[in-house]
Amino acid sequence: MSDKKMQVVFASAEAAPFVKTGGLGDVAGSLPRALVAAGADVIVMVPKYGTIASEYTDRMEHVADFYVSLGWRNEYCGLERLVIDGVTYLFIDNERYFKRDYPYGFFDDGERFAFFSKAVTESLQHLPEGFQCDVLHCNDWHTALAPVFLREFYQGLPLYERVKTVFSIHNIAFQGQYADTILNDILGMAHIPNAARQLRCDERSINYMQGALDYSDAITTVSPSYAWEIQTPEYGEGLDGILRRRSNVLSGILNGIDTDAWNPATDPMIHANYSAADMSGKKACKAALQEELGLEVRDDRPLMVMVTRLTRQKGMDLVTYALDRILSGGVQVAVLGTGDYEEPMRYFANKYPGTCAARITFDNALSHRMYAGADMFLMPSLFEPCGLSQMIAMRYGTLPVVRETGGLRDTVAPYNQFTGEGTGFTFANFNGDEMGDAVFRGARLYWDDHAAWDQLVQNAMAADFSWVRSADEYMNLYHNLHPEIDITKPEPVVQEPEPAEPTAVEAEPAAPAPEPAVTEAEPAPKTEQAAEPADDAKAEAPAKAEEPAPKTEPATEPAKKTAAKKATASKTAAKKPAARKTAATKSTATKAAEKPAAKATATKPAASKAAATKTTAAKATATKPTTKATASKATAAKNTAKKPSTASATKTATKSTATKAAPAKAAATKTTADKPATAAATAPKATSAKTAPKAAAAKTAPAKASTSKAATSSAAKATAKPAAPKATAAKAAAPKAAAQDSSAATPADKPAPKAKSVSAAKRTTRKR
Ligand code: ADP
Repeated sequence: MSDKKMQVVFASAEAAPFVKTGGLGDVAGSLPRALVAAGADVIVMVPKYGTIASEYTDRMEHVADFYVSLGWRNEYCGLERLVIDGVTYLFIDNERYFKRDYPYGFFDDGERFAFFSKAVTESLQHLPEGFQCDVLHCNDWHTALAPVFLREFYQGLPLYERVKTVFSIHNIAFQGQYADTILNDILGMAHIPNAARQLRCDERSINYMQGALDYSDAITTVSPSYAWEIQTPEYGEGLDGILRRRSNVLSGILNGIDTDAWNPATDPMIHANYSAADMSGKKACKAALQEELGLEVRDDRPLMVMVTRLTRQKGMDLVTYALDRILSGGVQVAVLGTGDYEEPMRYFANKYPGTCAARITFDNALSHRMYAGADMFLMPSLFEPCGLSQMIAMRYGTLPVVRETGGLRDTVAPYNQFTGEGTGFTFANFNGDEMGDAVFRGARLYWDDHAAWDQLVQNAMAADFSWVRSADEYMNLYHNLHPEIDITKPEPVVQEPEPAEPTAVEAEPAAPAPEPAVTEAEPAPKTEQAAEPADDAKAEAPAKAEEPAPKTEPATEPAKKTAAKKATASKTAAKKPAARKTAATKSTATKAAEKPAAKATATKPAASKAAATKTTAAKATATKPTTKATASKATAAKNTAKKPSTASATKTATKSTATKAAPAKAAATKTTADKPATAAATAPKATSAKTAPKAAAAKTAPAKASTSKAATSSAAKATAKPAAPKATAAKAAAPKAAAQDSSAATPADKPAPKAKSVSAAKRTTRKR
């Protein structure tokens, strides 16, 4: 191992706070900082857009300039440097390409981002003194050609020999597909058969992202479930064949959110601050939001919001289908967004004054107020690579109602009415009635069972969505590409609270002895009414009486079964623990301890504390024995034992309960007769939601971690005490579908969103 730090060049078409149109900007704005905290040296390369605020451009320092060849062109490229929070930003300067009023949506985007990719690659020769790029990490199609250029034009130059490439898919729907004439005219690659073949997606087109998938050393996407989904024709947008072929280097690493910027306890943009310990401010936020939006100010109405692009991807078809039912059923709805569904939203706002509000704009401050003031957050996406909004909502104690897809499935644990576990409400199929049922499961709980609702809110707020966990996983990935570089974080000389004389309680259990965590779990946290609540759903809400009676809603049985079903189904989202490096395990362990701690700590505070501060080695030993003991159990429990990432934390303590309850629920699930309308659709769900992830689990070949470690740790997690479980720990190693590449991927055409307004145009075309 060398002493060299992992040096990473992170290339992205956007990065907050300089330029952001959505999730990619958030990620590129936060992840590099987290990587630096994890011990890497990071340079972020972003185009120097004309829209970057002068507060930043004024501070940029010109460090280099050179020319980049692009087909027959020779284009100027300047490098402007800015250092913020330990991260060095190098802005790629070329006014002809980037001095425009918006990042994307121009006729020459193919040329602009081919230039950007080539400039990034060329720039590796002009990095600051002492920075020797180990990993070139590219993001989405805008940077997809960099790995291709690097191998075709720069391979062989000593400086580039050691550079490994990582390509991250943030949304596979946007691939950068262009007429193949640019192969010669712009890329200058027509004469390289290998490149031409691997970029070509049909007889007339080439596909940038396809090139990256073939040329990169490692591929990631932003959630474990999405990593699996994009290997299927249903979600792969024509690239599933290549992804299956390259599944051995594909993994899903969940995004995080900026927990400082999104913090209800300190957020200056919301009406009143609050925290999990004192939720009174949230009530004030709700009343203020209702007033601001012109909704009836009353607490007996659950307020559900959406903050989103109004596009098909975000499930707007389902929303427009089910909104009459939802609004007439006594649920208030407020939408903030722009896009293709602006008119329908205005229509509903006019039709249900006082109950529905639509703000057709992009407004960051209002989004904060909506996350804080709402009770529920609706996100019924058709597909969702990761999704940040649902995580933000949970951070604000706003329970998400989501479709079980991609990152939504990995971050939202469905409410289990029998155990009280969960962080939100979920449904499986892209079906308006199922979505409506899920909404009313939430509403019913809000109306009928305050204790259970409050517990769910607590669960949601305790979930760990910080970047620390993700950064550790990326570091592990980089380390796999450069095993000679040590990425172990220097031991943070902890202020060991090791009191010389242990307190009475702490005295003995201080040892990391593998606690019979399983037994601790017994006292199932369930709330009494587990048995009946859903049944009396018919009774409808109290609000019901005075409001236009809900038509059909009360998901009586559906509610019950789905809850049970979800509990089981969701668990199948086989996750594989990332557990690997000391650093990785350590940082997350502490976090994870927070949640189960509610239970576990109550019983043995000393033990959990000790466990949390233990070294990895100690942990390893501590969990080993238990691991074995529970291995068979975990296996037996199969899909019931695993839960969506966030769930894993909560689960730990109640693990045994979950495992036990599952079979019973499974049985219940059987009878799930649902509504006739959804019945048919339910069938495929069973396959996609359960079988698939299970299969994935089966093959989760240790993409990175040492097999045994990874394999055992998931079991260990199930039993181990609070220290072991990582909140999201269950980092599913990308499910590997060992399949052959079915050759040429079909070109996926991206539906060109038609702009309804300037803002809409901007939002909807942004990633193209
Ligand atoms: P996307 O697919 O659009 O990237 P994400 O959920 O990953 O979806 O991220 C969306 C981000 O953009 C969130 O931070 C969300 O709050 C924000 N956002 C979306 N629409 C709006 C809007 N109209 N006003 C303010 N913020 C918005």
